Amino acid sequence: MSALLSVSDAHVSYGKVEAVRSVSLDVADDEIVTIIGANGAGKTTLLNAIMGVLPLKGATAFAGADMTPLDIEDRVAAGLCLVPEHRELFGTMNVEDNLQLGAFRIPKATAARSFERVYTLFPRLKERRKQLAGTLSGGEQQMLAMGRALMGAPKLLMLDEPSLGLAPIIVADIFRTIGELRAAGVSVLLVEQNAQAALKIADRAYVMELGEFILSGPAKDIASNERVAASYLGFQ
Ligand code: ATP
Repeated sequence: MSALLSVSDAHVSYGKVEAVRSVSLDVADDEIVTIIGANGAGKTTLLNAIMGVLPLKGATAFAGADMTPLDIEDRVAAGLCLVPEHRELFGTMNVEDNLQLGAFRIPKATAARSFERVYTLFPRLKERRKQLAGTLSGGEQQMLAMGRALMGAPKLLMLDEPSLGLAPIIVADIFRTIGELRAAGVSVLLVEQNAQAALKIADRAYVMELGEFILSGPAKDIASNERVAASYLGFQ
């Protein structure tokens, strides 16, 4: 498997405080990789730095090219996309117009296909395409945020806490869709506090504590690791 995303010895700081220390990770084509860890471990910081929102010290490559000189727009154009924790939708615009915003850089003909693809993955969005985003349920808003990211046909989708604040039945729906993205040719880097659900759909996992990766490996091995079970899976 070739690495689609490769991060090596990454450091990210807020002033003098180093929030991410010496982190290395990779995501292959067609792979679902999760980063689990407690609040404040540095997961969001790492995703933001990979996206180019925060400066990162270290080596990063995407689809075989060095990402260092690329700004956020270049990274999006290369096929990298981040769905942030707070979704950042336009509440007074309807579903279709929010999706259209995700398609601003692609030709009209391709946009029609992107709408098809997103509505197939999220039939609920199709039903609600004329509804204002601000009036959707939390789960529907998460679907819309993911759908908007998918409109640009990314190669790698980074998801920050997609299950945050959602009812369990909706969480199951969101995770099922994440599992389906692989079949649609999209790799996923998933940050989650719901470690149990994340480890179930991921191929590989990294465990982050205090800015560092303390464990990594196949998701099923991480799920059966005693330390992970005690700290993150809610049983001893
Ligand atoms: P959460 O799930 O709460 O978002 P996280 O694992 O994503 O947790 P981060 O949000 O990346 O963790 O935070 C990592 C560390 O960096 C924390 O100690 C946090 O307090 C600090 N931090 C985050 N954002 C900033 C900021 N803008 N300025 C200064 N410190 C920050």
